[in-house]
Amino acid sequence: MFAFFERSIMKKIGLTTTVPIEVLIAAGYTPVDLNNLFITSADYLAYIELAEKEGFPKSTCAWTKGIYGACIRHDIKEVIGVVEGDCSNTKALIEVMKMKGIEVYPFAFPQEHTIEAVTMSIKTFSKRFEIDENTVEFTRKHLNKIRANAIEIDQLTYDTHKVTGFENHLLQLCLSDFNGNPEAYEALLTQKRDEISKRQENPKMIRLAYIGVPPMTGDLFDFVEALDARFVYNEVQREFAFPRAGQAKNIYEQYFDYTYPYELDFRIAEIVKQIEARHVHGIIHYTQAFCHRAIEDIVLRDRLKIPMLTIEGDKLNTMDARTKLRVEAFVDMICEIEADK
Ligand code: SF4
Repeated sequence: MFAFFERSIMKKIGLTTTVPIEVLIAAGYTPVDLNNLFITSADYLAYIELAEKEGFPKSTCAWTKGIYGACIRHDIKEVIGVVEGDCSNTKALIEVMKMKGIEVYPFAFPQEHTIEAVTMSIKTFSKRFEIDENTVEFTRKHLNKIRANAIEIDQLTYDTHKVTGFENHLLQLCLSDFNGNPEAYEALLTQKRDEISKRQENPKMIRLAYIGVPPMTGDLFDFVEALDARFVYNEVQREFAFPRAGQAKNIYEQYFDYTYPYELDFRIAEIVKQIEARHVHGIIHYTQAFCHRAIEDIVLRDRLKIPMLTIEGDKLNTMDARTKLRVEAFVDMICEIEADK
């Protein structure tokens, strides 16, 4: 289906987070996740600096500044701003974008987490882009076929010992925008899956869960592998891949079942399920400096009954020495607990 669209002439549209991308692709857009554009750039610090020079306070989180910088630097003219359910900074961010002449379309994951409210929100979104339900559904089925490859790779991460935590993180994360090209991303996932299944197993002693917003510090994954540990569950990245989409009857159910933007209890129920299914020994909760979601740590600590370490990242894309020491001590502690069992 997507071969119908000549990608070189499809208009780019920036995303501040995961949204019903099915609507945008059906409307002929190439969605670009501004977070990925920011964090994968060798120039990522320049994006933050650009935002700070334009007046973003030092006390604004690096992701917010980075996605703004990426949007300006890449001359993105249209953006979907998620005004409910994601980030408390977005409302102010999109005001600045509008001032800069960027066309911003709002989308909301409704506070009232009911199927009726989610349905209404997606219908309003589809109407704005003049896309009917059948076209959205056709697109959803196509994208879910591609997502199924990432779900399989996720299963291989905890069923076998053939996938690294970083691969698991990255391959699911990029499904927020299909890396800008669903067909090419499908080919990459298929090739990766085939290559992974031929690998020798490389087991690690400690099985970890990563929860929280995706990290600025991508070196965390390889760092723990060197300590004989592996992330076998990447919570939010996995949600970006919509692992339960196959059970959803339509797009409304699919986005109703997406845990990240809704109430914490809903999110925790899925985390607990996965921790048990994947035999996780310990959790690392990543929080971002100046992010309101860091407060959720209080509830997560209370509700998740296995060892948990909370770390914080700020502007740099590598961990500082203190964080490395804390992660190392945490893994050592889990090793001791497991050895005593
Ligand atoms: S890390 Fe927190 S404050 Fe920053 S963009 Fe994400 S949700 Fe918003």
